[in-house]
Amino acid sequence: MSIFENLSNVKNIISRYELDSGRKSGSVTLLAVSKTKPVELMIEAYECGQRLFGENKVQEAEEKKKLLPEDVELHLIGHLQSNKVKKACNIFSCIHSVDSLKIAKKIDSICFDLGKIMNIFVEVNIAEEESKTGYIPNSLFFDEFEQILKLENLNVLGLMCIGANSEDSLIIRTSFNRLKVLQDELKHKFTNFHGDSLSMGMSNDLPEAISEGSTIVRVGSSIFGSRI
Ligand SMILES: *Cc1c(COP(=O)(O)O)cnc(C)c1O
Repeated sequence: MSIFENLSNVKNIISRYELDSGRKSGSVTLLAVSKTKPVELMIEAYECGQRLFGENKVQEAEEKKKLLPEDVELHLIGHLQSNKVKKACNIFSCIHSVDSLKIAKKIDSICFDLGKIMNIFVEVNIAEEESKTGYIPNSLFFDEFEQILKLENLNVLGLMCIGANSEDSLIIRTSFNRLKVLQDELKHKFTNFHGDSLSMGMSNDLPEAISEGSTIVRVGSSIFGSRI
């Protein structure tokens, strides 16, 4: 299968489940996750009209960015280390993986210097699986979330998660629904939080994520092939 065909298939799935769940057509954005894949494949996707790409490593993204057209937009989806924040703020237009107040403060302070507002998602380990990064939704999370909202150079778009690691579609859906409910709870609690984006859904759980209200899906292997 070509990148063109893969992209078309993924877009068709997105359209179908937007329609199925009564959502407006075009309400789900496709982030093409190109991590580990050569820049040539990204350019192929670019030529099919794709502009938005997701990377999980700062270094890799930096090297690819030099070879990509100006109007490509890169989002960071992987864990961010403190010593890479400065680079990350220069390369990415959005960071999906903010998982501590410490890292949020660092992004804020560097964006202040750059005169830039960074779009972010706060990552939640919604299925509370040990293998996963992100906040466990406990009282520490609520405290830190409130602090993150106060950082003036950050624009908190919403929450991000990786769905439950399960073969059971209902368990996966429940985990996505829990992220949506948590976001609604945060909006009630913190009236200065207006985020209504949800970063959820990957190659294997697109239908569940879209049905549960995802606004941006992060799709890698269905577009670029498996990473092995
Ligand atoms: C790799 C990755 C994806 C894409 O996964 P696929 O299964 O290839 O679609 C999405 N989100 C995150 C956080 C990832 O690390």
